Amino acid sequence: MNFADLALAEPLARAIADKGYTTPSPIQQAAIPPALAGHDILGLAQTGTGKTAAFALPILHRLAAQPKHRLKLSARVLVLAPTRELAGQICASFEAYARYMRLSITAVFGGVPINRQERAMQHGVDVLVACPGRLLDLVMKGAIDLGHVEMLVLDECDQMLDLGFLPDLKRITRLLPRQRQTMLFSATLPPSIEALSQQYLKDPVKVAMQPAATTAERVVQSVIHVSQPEKLALLAHLLASEDVTSTIVFTRTKHGADRVVRQLAAHKIEARAIHGNRSQAQRTQALGAFRSGELRVLVATDIAARGLDIPQVSHVFNFELPNVPEQYVHRIGRTARAGREGRAIALCAPDERPYLKDIERTIRMSLEQQPLPANFRDLVGLTAKLIKSSPAAAEPPREEREFNRGPRGGARGRDPRAVVHADGRGPRREGGRDGGREAARDGARREGGFARPDGARPQGQRPQGARPQGRPGGSFGGQRSGQRRSPAGR
Ligand code: AMP
Repeated sequence: MNFADLALAEPLARAIADKGYTTPSPIQQAAIPPALAGHDILGLAQTGTGKTAAFALPILHRLAAQPKHRLKLSARVLVLAPTRELAGQICASFEAYARYMRLSITAVFGGVPINRQERAMQHGVDVLVACPGRLLDLVMKGAIDLGHVEMLVLDECDQMLDLGFLPDLKRITRLLPRQRQTMLFSATLPPSIEALSQQYLKDPVKVAMQPAATTAERVVQSVIHVSQPEKLALLAHLLASEDVTSTIVFTRTKHGADRVVRQLAAHKIEARAIHGNRSQAQRTQALGAFRSGELRVLVATDIAARGLDIPQVSHVFNFELPNVPEQYVHRIGRTARAGREGRAIALCAPDERPYLKDIERTIRMSLEQQPLPANFRDLVGLTAKLIKSSPAAAEPPREEREFNRGPRGGARGRDPRAVVHADGRGPRREGGRDGGREAARDGARREGGFARPDGARPQGQRPQGARPQGRPGGSFGGQRSGQRRSPAGR
């Protein structure tokens, strides 16, 4: 099948050609025809395989086929996404595909001034991409009327239907017309959430490219067993490898992310952190620098685990394993996008082994074990020295401590789970700082879920040695990398 077979509107076909797409990816081939016919869709496909276009193209085609005047404060299409960064990215994809159409497309999310978003909605838009919290704020201010939505998309639908978002989602869907097309997409869908998803779908076409939670084939995955205090030495050693051209290092906590950044700095490795305690400006800046290739190492919590499409990411390091196994699938899906290759290396401390088991059970394969480097004791010793001689590596800078403490003595630094109410209200309203609730839903909800001895003083590393793994660019549908994919059988 090629794009011509999908018979998309001419301006769309032109935009697709501009993007350099030649063939629709498998999820696009399967989802676009029923979506064009107006069916509800439940779409499951691996990370990085073109899910955004799988819903954006049929939506834009349908808008082109039935042009309508925009109504004040209204949107014809509503796309909900869990993080601000993902909402911005989806909006940019819609704009790229609609570049030859006269459509109005906008995104609304927290952490940036609300007035501009109110103004953007004044005359109505065709496509609105939103994070639920800010969307509800705008609805309550009377700046958005959801009563004319014709098509709804829940991207990363399992997260949108999970407890952190569900109350907001219920409030939003109550405001939508019952008569609408609904499309749900994700790479993971635990059975309980799939059952729940049926409440939002009418007679859906299920498009599952492979069992849910299958990791992208081209990610070569491995695990290295190492004690928590020695992880930093190992990470710094691995990052020094030449083929780590662009990498995301995932930690479980916001403070953990900041600590890794500081301790890498002691090794003269520049890194920046992105997590829910960072201001939106800091988040945007760090992600922008990473996208442009100016920044090689991004340290992130699960806020960056889902959806972000940064093609050049060569490696994902799980500095700490996620305690929710599906998040592993999303984290490592930040590499090997659109047919490229990538590496994912997990650093597993003894007390994380139960998480590793959960992950292996979820992805139905065992991770290959990689040995520690031969000179690891020397590396650990070196890291200890470097960190000792760098006071900044041990203590957070004053501004950071104050920012994390928040304006009213604690809302930003608290475990976000403690402040998300059943009705979806969160620390933002309590503490008066925008972004707290979204931080909670951005995956930060997971961030507080794991107690870790903080006395862990990561130590020792010396840059050296390259490990072999080429990563040529690619296209959809190439060869599998040779990796072990065996049923975990537990
Ligand atoms: P997504 O899974 O939607 O984030 O898309 C992953 C990457 O695949 C993005 O960089 C898209 O631009 C790219 N992509 C989407 N569809 C196609 C296609 N049919 N051919 C080539 N690349 C594509």
